[in-house]
Amino acid sequence: MTLMKSWATLVAGLLLFGAAQTVAAEDKPAKWQVIHAGVLLNDPGRPPLSEQSVIIRNNIIQEVRAGYLDPKAIDANAEVIDLRNRFVLPGLIDAHVHLGGQPGGIDGNPARMSLIERSEVSQSEAAITLTSWIYAKRTLEAGFTTLRDVGEPTKASAALTALRDAIDAGHIPGPRLIIARNAISVTGGHADIVGYSEEVHEGLIHRGICDGADACRKAVRDQVARGATAIKIMASGGGGTPMGRPDSEPEMTSEEMVAAVETAHALGMKVAAHAHGDKAVLAAVKAGVDSIEHAAYGSRETFKEMAKRQVYLVPTMAVRARRLQMAAMQPEEARKKTEADVAIILENFKTALKVGVPIAFGTDAGVVPHGSNGVEFAWYVKLGMSPMEAIRTSTHNAAVLLGVDDKVGVIDAGKLADIIAVDRSPLQDITALEAPSFIMKDGMIYKNMR
Ligand SMILES: [Zn+2]
Repeated sequence: MTLMKSWATLVAGLLLFGAAQTVAAEDKPAKWQVIHAGVLLNDPGRPPLSEQSVIIRNNIIQEVRAGYLDPKAIDANAEVIDLRNRFVLPGLIDAHVHLGGQPGGIDGNPARMSLIERSEVSQSEAAITLTSWIYAKRTLEAGFTTLRDVGEPTKASAALTALRDAIDAGHIPGPRLIIARNAISVTGGHADIVGYSEEVHEGLIHRGICDGADACRKAVRDQVARGATAIKIMASGGGGTPMGRPDSEPEMTSEEMVAAVETAHALGMKVAAHAHGDKAVLAAVKAGVDSIEHAAYGSRETFKEMAKRQVYLVPTMAVRARRLQMAAMQPEEARKKTEADVAIILENFKTALKVGVPIAFGTDAGVVPHGSNGVEFAWYVKLGMSPMEAIRTSTHNAAVLLGVDDKVGVIDAGKLADIIAVDRSPLQDITALEAPSFIMKDGMIYKNMR
């Protein structure tokens, strides 16, 4: 009886506490912001509007209104943000990054540019947490307010989970992160860490590795239990490896892919599949994945299947650009081989565009330096997209693929205040997106030059 009574008192107390908190939250004056946008591309794909006001209350967009609204008409303390001489658009989204490392390490040391950091072997988890935060901030400062990290080794996965949580809680600045943690891969596959001596190999934690359908189900559940908010599967080997060639068999069996996809979808996760060879791309598409990453050697028939099923392609053209850059330093024979291979991949991408495969923007930053993500846009335009279509891949399309289109991707009532601005129209010159001069994420201004 006493116990019952004390429980009742406790519950009543909690209810009162809850009510008091609600009142306190409502008592706190709302923070109002009004952006005056010279040109506003609020919904990429539809024509831009000129001389608009974006009204924001407590990080939520309330309204987009024609003309330059007097902020005092909204609230005596409303902040006005003058972007009358700039081109304003939604915060950009990169659906394919790896924040755990980058070429040449934190300083992009030219002497070590050919090496991607092997952070799992050379760094502590604490060090990876700090460097990945710096990489995340560099990417935010480049205009990317939402990122999907599509796979890390075990220590970087733990680091990114902590980083994501601290950013989400508002404790530290950074972009919104959707993280796959460890990618799902077969033993010895693209996400397994191989090539070390027996004792180093034994000492590493090989997580996300599975052989057989049940093991792959468990591997997916394990990543979600540890905080993943997306799932990545390795359908083929890496580019340039025996299992990553144009005619290679998939690394995972169809049974393993289907098991991983079904489990992920049941848990509300979208699935990205790394796939180079055509057989791996097609098998992953048939297994029901939401996006194919790279699809370097996808055939016309496979791309038609992707278009039919509306499976997104995440192109990672920044990596092609980097390969060409690196090839320039190679002896002639090696250089020509790389150039010929890249030419095939670019042609395949043009085919994908022609048959109507939906595209979501993704760079593979981590393989290229973080913060240089914007170079990807110019490649899309060079290979056949209009600038408007290119912008749409990094806003609306990527938001849909990541399952966050209820929150970001357009500037509209009810959406989060993720807004950037550039100094000239990216519809005329897409490279304008490589240097945004204004960046707001969740209503916080991270950059405002001039
Ligand atoms: Zn990648």
